[in-house]
Amino acid sequence: MESTRIRGKNKGSREIYSTIQLKFSLLSSKEFFYRGVNMSVTNAMESIVKHFFAEFQENYPLKCDCSQCKDDIIAIALNRVPSKYVSTEVGEVYIKTLMMDKQIESDVIKEITNAVMVVEKNPRHN
Ligand SMILES: [Zn+2]
Repeated sequence: MESTRIRGKNKGSREIYSTIQLKFSLLSSKEFFYRGVNMSVTNAMESIVKHFFAEFQENYPLKCDCSQCKDDIIAIALNRVPSKYVSTEVGEVYIKTLMMDKQIESDVIKEITNAVMVVEKNPRHN
């Protein structure tokens, strides 16, 4: 008898709780969306690939240096190196540290070289 009463009471409070929870999650998902938009997270490898690509072009003039070809080269290279996400707050110092890493430098240059060959064989420009 006692347990039935408690169970009934619990059921009621659970319903109220789930209503509150639903309202809260609707509000917070909206709020979370806006927070997500303002969050400053960046892939450190993007700056690193662009840096070494600029250096690469000084030694190896591209067959075509239109923006379509250059963007394709960067995109192909970026997809082949592991991304390293950083918050922009600590990003700059960390990116410089990564740039001085000889292993990262050789991996990135290897992928840029490969990407240049891929794009020069199959350019997407008009
Ligand atoms: Zn081109």
